[in-house]
Amino acid sequence: MTEPDHAEAHGGTLGSRLNWLRAAVLGANDGIVSTAGLVVGVAGATDDRSALLTAGLAGLLAGSMSMAAGEYVSVSTQRDSEKAALDLERRELRDQPEAELEELTELLEDRGLTRQVAREAALQLTRRDALKAHARVELGIDPDDLTNPWHAAWASFLAFTAGALLPLLAIVLPPTSWRLQVTVVSVLLALTCTGWTSAHLGSAPPGRAVLRNVAGGALAMAVTYGVGALLGAAGV
Ligand SMILES: [Zn+2]
Repeated sequence: MTEPDHAEAHGGTLGSRLNWLRAAVLGANDGIVSTAGLVVGVAGATDDRSALLTAGLAGLLAGSMSMAAGEYVSVSTQRDSEKAALDLERRELRDQPEAELEELTELLEDRGLTRQVAREAALQLTRRDALKAHARVELGIDPDDLTNPWHAAWASFLAFTAGALLPLLAIVLPPTSWRLQVTVVSVLLALTCTGWTSAHLGSAPPGRAVLRNVAGGALAMAVTYGVGALLGAAGV
């Protein structure tokens, strides 16, 4: 709990780096679970390696592109609203500088400064870069460091792809009689790592998070394998 607050107080750099890392781990986790479910399901129905490769690759691309598109849209929307808030702040600073100075003073008082020190700090911050001061203290954003939607999109594309490659390779590389065991074991091990890492980065106790994550992946593979085996046996 204290770690993110501390990071926030220093401009949020550490905090936002941890958020990126956590998003990358979760993206990889998605790639592992959805591709594992897909290829294990197909393996339930057929031994054909090229069918497995086609399904796995299509799943990898569809998943990573859908993650990237979703991330692009959500970060763009967030950036639009941050830009609108900055525009409003810029107008307020131009039209009512006194009220804005008072506002900044009160916000700094709320953070624990005495009235006198808060006033002096607000004056100095306003003289140096009023918009940046209001953006940081009032809106909690850094106007020089708004998240780029393309970076966010690429990051989730790569994270999902990295995760998806594991079950894809695990199902197509080993000999037919081994492929399911190799895939299931490597997927469950990988989910242990991603579950542990994301819990650790989020300062949550890792034990239960790992268990949930591994159980979720195991359930996904069991369900799709069952469906695949039924369809395969029915000759669909
Ligand atoms: Zn303001």
